Amino acid sequence: QYSPDEIENNLYLMVQPFVWVMGEELQKTGGSAVIARDVRRVPPGAIDPTVKNLQWGDFVRGMLEARDRGANYPILTDGDGNLTEGSGFNVCIIKDGVLRTPKRGVLEGVTRKTVLEVAKVHGVECHVEDVPVSAAYNCDELLFVTTAGGVMPITKLDGAPVGGGEVGPISRTIWKAYWEAHYDPMHSFAINY
Ligand SMILES: *Cc1c(COP(=O)(O)O)cnc(C)c1O
Repeated sequence: QYSPDEIENNLYLMVQPFVWVMGEELQKTGGSAVIARDVRRVPPGAIDPTVKNLQWGDFVRGMLEARDRGANYPILTDGDGNLTEGSGFNVCIIKDGVLRTPKRGVLEGVTRKTVLEVAKVHGVECHVEDVPVSAAYNCDELLFVTTAGGVMPITKLDGAPVGGGEVGPISRTIWKAYWEAHYDPMHSFAINY
């Protein structure tokens, strides 16, 4: 019978081989996603999404819906007409050369941060703001970003092609710059095993 203030904090670290949320082959042609209709993202007032956590009830429902609708991944909304994020990744939409990513109700991922940095270096205007669901249906390019997989192009949304239905030029630029940053001493250092 513990009360929360009596619980002792413990830190556990686990190391495991790299996980690809989207396989390297699929990244060349792009994955498919749906905007979940049956479930919304748990609101920030219930569980703070800026803290990485293992409450995945909403994501798992979204993943099952995506599977039922013949797609690989779900994007969850905030239930108020805005995009949030998907099962372990942030969402970036690109329209007319401008990149936008949802500001609220999401984990503020380090991959998103790096993607914003490299996009700006390549002259892409970036905005972290509320992104309406309609913007996803009208965008030219759609990207999911996470440590576990990097920069993952999505070329099909709700069964329809995103933009031209192929991995777009800005997605390719960001993909390349993101992986190059891994070997840039500004962002990383080599470990001697
Ligand atoms: C881990 C995670 C991300 C991506 O965060 P990174 O720091 O880029 O790996 C995005 N959304 C959710 C819900 C996550 O769990």
